[in-house]
Amino acid sequence: MSQKMMENLVSLCKRRGFIYPSSEIYGGLNSCYDYGPLGVELKRNLKNFWWKSMVQLHDNIEGLDSSILMHPKIWEASGHVANFTDPLVDCKKCKNRFRQDHLEGTVCPNCKGELTEARQFNLMFKTFMGPVESEASVVYLRPETAQGIYVNYQNVLGTSRQKIPFGIAQIGKAFRNEITPGNFIFRTREFEQMEMQYFVKPGEDMTAFDEWKEKRVAWYTKIGISKDKIRLHEHGPDELAHYAKKAFDIQYEFPFGWQELEGIHHRSDFDLNQHQKFSGKNLQYFDEGLKEKYIPYIIETSAGCDRSLLCILCDAYTEEEERVVMKFSPQMAPVQVAVLPLVKKDGLGKLAKAIAENLQNKFSVFYDESGSIGRRYRRQDEIGTPYCVTFDYDTKTNHTVTVRNRDTMNQDRVGTDQLSEFLIKHLSMNP
Ligand code: ATP
Repeated sequence: MSQKMMENLVSLCKRRGFIYPSSEIYGGLNSCYDYGPLGVELKRNLKNFWWKSMVQLHDNIEGLDSSILMHPKIWEASGHVANFTDPLVDCKKCKNRFRQDHLEGTVCPNCKGELTEARQFNLMFKTFMGPVESEASVVYLRPETAQGIYVNYQNVLGTSRQKIPFGIAQIGKAFRNEITPGNFIFRTREFEQMEMQYFVKPGEDMTAFDEWKEKRVAWYTKIGISKDKIRLHEHGPDELAHYAKKAFDIQYEFPFGWQELEGIHHRSDFDLNQHQKFSGKNLQYFDEGLKEKYIPYIIETSAGCDRSLLCILCDAYTEEEERVVMKFSPQMAPVQVAVLPLVKKDGLGKLAKAIAENLQNKFSVFYDESGSIGRRYRRQDEIGTPYCVTFDYDTKTNHTVTVRNRDTMNQDRVGTDQLSEFLIKHLSMNP
């Protein structure tokens, strides 16, 4: 995908209601975006699919939804107050600001001017709790959802009666005051994470780490991403975060290069040890079988929801000679079935509408009765609708409809009483 196509994709997202710039009537707010009617459906499909893969299909993974504001000591314990920084440099000439670790040379990439010494800049957003704006009332918007899981691990253990190994999954907003946000929704200051923290017995950590690494890579092909555009990148010693013993990034080949989608991190007992120390609470796990106490090791799978969504959009975007098609997998498609009467008159509209209402129980359906049929097909291609169902005059007499496949543009004639089953089969959904 070229940069030009990326620009076309961004404009399609706005035009068709996937993603709008935030606060647009006020001139926008840098790096903030709003999801429109189709974007929100796509995002829900993505989150639901992740939740199903992680929570519903694993007996030993539980869900959680912890608060964004947490006790400020959590961020001292986690190391974020001291270490969650990026090196910031300014160009002395053009005054542009950069993240030093993202630069290739030692001069300004914009004007070749001299750069300032690097300053460490903390990425956490600060605010105040209560009416007094003092140091004592500082709280942070969480920069990752993980800590909410760690501080709840004993609660979840106690109430769910899980045993190690087990995991806790959470989807939620995180905030980072990024120095250089950009590339559309790739790097923003407010974003959503889909994280699963897996608690294991020390000694069994490397097996779990390898298992999750493989599972998570495979997950991206399940949501329809091209296999050859996904790869793993292992962190070298100078890339490792302050908490990590070993880490891999799952990367996707975006139009702007190979970039991280998800981090698989071996966090060892770092976080739980720190919380034990800072809270004064015993966070050991008692292994009933072994009659042994220990602090579990943690394997983290941390995916960006918005980043995965951008990856889905880029991977689906296809420019063909006569049309633009979003080739979403059926599980991700914001609209799964479009119901289109050839004409509104002669009772066709009424008939089609009744069938659309019937299908709505099982699928996400869009009903459209205006404009030429060719134009209506193109509009559905552009938003990635896998099937269009057309009602024509024959429908009235022989009770069959035309079902058009988005990718092949082939059309099948299907009985109206078989329509639901046909769609279930072709959208590969459970009946
Ligand atoms: P980077 O090096 O790109 O700043 P990171 O290594 O700090 O990212 P992690 O802390 O591992 O990122 O976060 C886990 C996931 O959360 C990332 O893989 C990414 O998908 C998502 N993420 C992190 N920061 C952002 C952001 N500013 N905007 C959107 N998604 C983000």
